[in-house]
Amino acid sequence: MSPPTPTAATPRLRPSVIATAAATVAAAVVATLVVVPPATAVPDPPRRDLRRPLPGPVAVVTPFDPPAERWLAGHRGVDLAAPLLTPIHAPAGGTVLFAGPVGGRPVLSIDHGSGLRTTYEPVRATVRTGDGVTTGDVVAHLLTGHAGCPVDSCLHWGARLASGGPSGNDDDYLDPLSLLAVEDRPIRLKPTLPGDGFG
Ligand SMILES: [Zn+2]
Repeated sequence: MSPPTPTAATPRLRPSVIATAAATVAAAVVATLVVVPPATAVPDPPRRDLRRPLPGPVAVVTPFDPPAERWLAGHRGVDLAAPLLTPIHAPAGGTVLFAGPVGGRPVLSIDHGSGLRTTYEPVRATVRTGDGVTTGDVVAHLLTGHAGCPVDSCLHWGARLASGGPSGNDDDYLDPLSLLAVEDRPIRLKPTLPGDGFG
């Protein structure tokens, strides 16, 4: 038997009727077929309007270097050189997700909505979990002690996009510099060779 072929005589159905009919068919099919889950919710595309989190030009000393696989080591953020106690500014509005130690590292994370979170370490937060922040607010001051920092103090700045999974373990790490507004894009310094690296 062949399926009916739509013709000019096919009655026009109102969308609500079609939807109801489709739902009825779907309900009948569910009983006998493996249900194909809906496509994973795709988060909004990453924004490109973040402001730099440090005063002055962004000086990258260690770039973003994500691992090829989630369980491998890598550098899931960028290290930005700045003096001790430099104020750190919210790059966009949001809500403080967490401020406190994680595995001995003083960390701050901000939820910007649409699944985007940014993280800062090592920092002494001036905000608390649940606080609302707006772009440019001072949210922390930089501390020393980030592993691998080749200068006196580095801000490790991270960004991740929630996958929608419950654990967050499969979130996607992003290069936060890719989210910066054009006018806040970094210059690249060679911190051990002052004055070099601009050619
Ligand atoms: Zn780092």
